Amino acid sequence: MYLMRSARIWYLYFGVILMVFMCFMVNFGVWCPNENEQKLENLLARYRDQIKEKDKEVREAGDKLRTSEKKIQDLILNLEVRGKNNRVFDQSMPVIYAITPTYNRSEQKAELTRLSQTFLHLPNFHWIVIEDSALRTKLVTNFLNLCGLSYTHLNILTPKEVKLKLDDPNWLKPRGVLQRNMGLSWLRKNLNPEKQPGVVYFADDDNTYDLKIFAEMRQTQKVSVWPVGLVGSLRYESPVVKNGKVTGWFTYWKPDRPFAMDMAGFAVNLQLFFQYPEVEFSNYVKRGYQESTILSGMKITLDDLEPLADHCTKVLVWHTRTETPKLKNEDRLNRKFGHGSDPNVEV
Ligand code: UDP
Ligand code: MN
Repeated sequence: MYLMRSARIWYLYFGVILMVFMCFMVNFGVWCPNENEQKLENLLARYRDQIKEKDKEVREAGDKLRTSEKKIQDLILNLEVRGKNNRVFDQSMPVIYAITPTYNRSEQKAELTRLSQTFLHLPNFHWIVIEDSALRTKLVTNFLNLCGLSYTHLNILTPKEVKLKLDDPNWLKPRGVLQRNMGLSWLRKNLNPEKQPGVVYFADDDNTYDLKIFAEMRQTQKVSVWPVGLVGSLRYESPVVKNGKVTGWFTYWKPDRPFAMDMAGFAVNLQLFFQYPEVEFSNYVKRGYQESTILSGMKITLDDLEPLADHCTKVLVWHTRTETPKLKNEDRLNRKFGHGSDPNVEV
């Protein structure tokens, strides 16, 4: 009886131990290997998702960092250029406002670069760049942003009927007319010659300028004039100066024009554009009469002209023209490999 009872107690005891053991095994997943694997897999999948998410975050942060780095680099560049050239305007010195029409073509950035790096040498200088386009382009916007000059960026498209076609000879139609007029409107709207004196110069983007001419034109009282090199199919054209006064024009082509000189050969006191608020260039005047239109419109006479460049005996400005680059190997590359050079590289 006693033995039977103690055996029952032992069975009970083992039973309880076994149950505790099984519970333990089940609880820790040892008993059910399949369920355990599933759990692990779920855990792994969760970790994988988390890693993917973090990976995306890291990549995005990297992109942001690179964009910021690029911005900082641009700013440093900008500061470097500005630092070298004090852009603070001296109130006592006339400001030179250069009006430059420009249009999209393969050599545009090269022209603007050369021009801006001449202008960077000048104090009290403001550059008005007017694109011949329906919109201000990214190229010119970015270029101006980093050029280090004080500038205004405008645009106006030359209408088709007055626009030079690709195969037209360049003399067929006037170029840059609406753009120069827009530059003049900007001056009239935004400046006050009573507050700060100024001088206006029409600086085409392809010419070559000696710094000396800017120093001389800065003191223009009405209209100053000087010779221009490599223009009118001559080595130079020039005002004719006798006893310190302009008496006529040295030119082969249309010498009877009232002001037979190139756009690069004169500068005008800012005040005159306020005195004659209607005066502007026109697409409908005879060829070679742009300069005469504007100066006659302001009632300028030969007697008013101030000859510079050593009584007009020195050439300090050249009407250079850039050869249109030949890019035919781009087409050849395209035919051979399906693409030319990388269009993302700005030239
Ligand atoms: N220009 C322009 N649109 C054109 C052609 C020229 O705005 O369709 C600009 C050009 O960039 C330059 C000025 O007008 O600043 C004079 O043009 P270009 O140098 O071709 O004239 P040229 O030297 O033959 O007088
Ligand atoms: Mn030109």
